[in-house]
Amino acid sequence: MWSVLIYRDMVETPIEYGQHEEGRHLNYWDIDPALRAEVERTYPDAEFEWAEDELSDLGEVTGHTIADNAEIIDREGHELRTYDKHGEIQNHVQYHPLQHENDELVYERGVTHDVFHAPPGRDDPLGFQHVLAQQTVLSFADGGFVCPVSMTTGAAVVLEKYVDDDHPNADLLSEYFEGLTSRDYDDHIEGAMFLTEKQGGSDVGANETTAEPTDEEGIYELSGEKWFCSNIDAEGTLALARRPDAPEGTAGLSLFLVPHTKRDGGSPNDEAGASDGGLSAGELNDQLYRRLKDKLGTIAVPTGEVEFRGAEAYLVGEPENGFKLMAEMMNFERLTNATGSVGGMGRSLLESKVQAATRDAFGETVQQYPLMRRDLVNMQTDYEAALAFTFEATRHYADYMRNEQRLDADAPDDRSDREARAFKLMRLLVPIAKYKTARMAVDTASYACEVLGGNGYVNGFATERMLRDSQVLPIWEGTSNVLSLDVLRVLNREAAHEELFPLVEDSLDAADHPHLGDLAATVEEEFTAMQEAMISLATEEQEYAQHEAKQLADYIFDVVTAALLIERAQDAIDERDDARKSLVAEWFVETRFAQQDARGITDGEKLPDDHFEEIVRHGSLSPDQLTEAAPADD
Ligand SMILES: Cc1cc2nc3c(=O)[nH]c(=O)nc-3n(C[C@H](O)[C@H](O)[C@H](O)COP(=O)(O)OP(=O)(O)OC[C@H]3O[C@@H](n4cnc5c(N)ncnc54)[C@H](O)[C@@H]3O)c2cc1C
Repeated sequence: MWSVLIYRDMVETPIEYGQHEEGRHLNYWDIDPALRAEVERTYPDAEFEWAEDELSDLGEVTGHTIADNAEIIDREGHELRTYDKHGEIQNHVQYHPLQHENDELVYERGVTHDVFHAPPGRDDPLGFQHVLAQQTVLSFADGGFVCPVSMTTGAAVVLEKYVDDDHPNADLLSEYFEGLTSRDYDDHIEGAMFLTEKQGGSDVGANETTAEPTDEEGIYELSGEKWFCSNIDAEGTLALARRPDAPEGTAGLSLFLVPHTKRDGGSPNDEAGASDGGLSAGELNDQLYRRLKDKLGTIAVPTGEVEFRGAEAYLVGEPENGFKLMAEMMNFERLTNATGSVGGMGRSLLESKVQAATRDAFGETVQQYPLMRRDLVNMQTDYEAALAFTFEATRHYADYMRNEQRLDADAPDDRSDREARAFKLMRLLVPIAKYKTARMAVDTASYACEVLGGNGYVNGFATERMLRDSQVLPIWEGTSNVLSLDVLRVLNREAAHEELFPLVEDSLDAADHPHLGDLAATVEEEFTAMQEAMISLATEEQEYAQHEAKQLADYIFDVVTAALLIERAQDAIDERDDARKSLVAEWFVETRFAQQDARGITDGEKLPDDHFEEIVRHGSLSPDQLTEAAPADD
C-alpha cells in the first residue's frame, strides 16, 4: 500500500492507479487531491489544521474496514422481526453484526459530535463543513450506511434549538440531543425523519397522521401510517403529524420526536439498544414496524413501513411549525445527499481509473486508448464540477449555521448582512446541488460499470453496488422536479439571485491568466443570458415557469460551476504555480457551452488525450504550458 505521505500535499508525480487491484484498501482522503483541495477551501485555516489528520484517519478506516464491511452487509442485509414467537410486537431489527462495527468506528470519531461540541484537542466545535467533509469520505464506501449517520446530525440540528430553552419538552429534547451527538458509542442514539405517507411524499401537506394531546403538556399520541421510514428503529425519530383542528396542508403540521422506546423506560442513553437494533430496556412505543422495503440498493439502512398506534410523541418547537422545522433538517439532508453523491462519484471514478490502468486489451492497458482517456477525463471533470458546486454550497451552509448557532458569539456588527447572504446562497445552492449531483452520481456509477466491462455488472465488484445505491439519490430528500420547483420558489420568495450574481462575478473576475480570461469571457456571455432567462421567468405565468424550472436549474449549475472552476484554477496558478485545474475548467466550459461546427468532430482538438496525465492522474502542469485558449464558441 502507498504511504500516506505521498499523497498528503501537492502531488509531485502522477498517481499510479495501476498499483492497486481495486478502489479499496487504500485511503480515500489521501488518494484524492481534488477532494482534499476542495474541502480545504471551505475551512477556516486553524480548523483545517486540526481537521486534516482526522479526515485522513477517517479516509483510512473507510477505505479498509468500512468498505469491506459494506460489501458483506449489502449481500447479507438486516432482518426485521416484527413479532416474537408468542406473537407479541417486538419491532426488532436484527442488524448485521458488522453494522455495529461500522457505527462504532464512525461515531467514536465524532462524526455527529464535533460540530456541536468541542472535540478532544479543541476548545470549540467545528463548523458544519467538517461533518459534510466526513460524510463525503464515508460515501466512498457505502451510501446506505451514510443515510442514518446523516439523519442523526440532521435531527440534532433541530433539537439543538430547544436545549436550554423554556420549551415544555426542553429537558427531554436535551437528553435526546446529547444522545444523538455523543462521541461515546454506548451512549449514542441515532436519528430518523418520517414524512412520507402513502398518499404523498413530494406532497407533504397531504400528511394524514394525527397527534392527540395527552394530559401532559407537550406529550402527544400519534396515529397513522408512514410509508418510507429509513433507519426505522431510530431512538431519535422526528415525524410530522397534524393536531386536532389544525389547518390542512403544510401549515397544519407539527413536529414530534417519536422514540423507539417510551421515556418511562429511562433516558434514551440508558441502552444503545435502538441505534444498534437491539431491544432497549424501556417499554416499546405503541407502533408497528410492518415490514422492510425490498429495495434495489442502500441495503445498509433498513427502510420500512410504520404504523403509529397511539405512539408516545414529544412536541418539538411550536405547534403547527413542523414543516418549517423539518425544512431545517431537510436543508442538511439535501446537502448530505449531494456530498453522498460526490463521494459515490469519487469511488466510481477511482474504480474506473484502477481498472483502466490495469486491464489489458489489444496489447495495451485500456487507459492508453484515446476513447478511454476521453471517458476518464469526462468523469474526472464531472467529479470536480460536482465537488466545486457542492462544497461552495457547503461553505455557505456552514456560514449560515455558524451564524445561526453558537460559534460566532462575537460576530461583528455586519452579522445580519452576512447571515442574510449565507441564508440566501445556502437556500439556492443546496437544492441545485442535490438535484444535479444525484443525477451525475447515477451517470458516473453507470459508466463505471461499463469501464469495468462485464465484471462491472457483477455482484462483488463495487460498481454494481454503487449503481444500485446511487439510483435512490435523485429520489429521496425530494425528486429532481421537486427540487427544481424549489429553486423557482427561492428565487421568487428570497430573491436569492441578488447574492448569486455577485458570487459568479467575483469568481469570473478572479481570472488573471490569459487562458482563463478567455474562458471567463465565454462564461460571461452565458452568465448574461442566464440572468436574462431568470428575469424573464420571474414574470412568466406559473405554468410556463414550472415547465422551464429544471432547465433553469441546469443552467445555473453550469454557469456557477464554470465560474467556480475558473476561480479555483486561478488560485492553483497563484498558490502552487500549477495549471492542471485550468485544464479541468477548460474541458468543463468546452463540453457545456461550446457551439461547435459538426459537434467539434472536425476541429482537430483533443485535450483529454493530450492532457490525460495531468487531469486524470493529477500530474501538475506549468502555467507557461497552457496553450492559447480558443474561446469555446470560436
Ligand atoms: C429507499 C428510500 C428511502 C426513503 N426514506 C425515507 C425516509 O426515511 N423518510 C421519508 O419521509 N421518506 C423517505 N423516502 C421517501 C421519498 O422521500 C419519497 O419517495 C420521495 O420524496 C418522492 O415521493 P413519492 O414517493 O410520494 O413520489 P411522488 O411525490 O408521488 O412523485 C412521483 C413523481 O411525480 C413527480 N412530481 C411530484 N410533484 C410534482 C410536481 N409538482 N411537478 C412535477 N412533477 C412532480 C416527482 O418528481 C416524481 O417523479 C424514501 C424513499 C426511498 C426510495
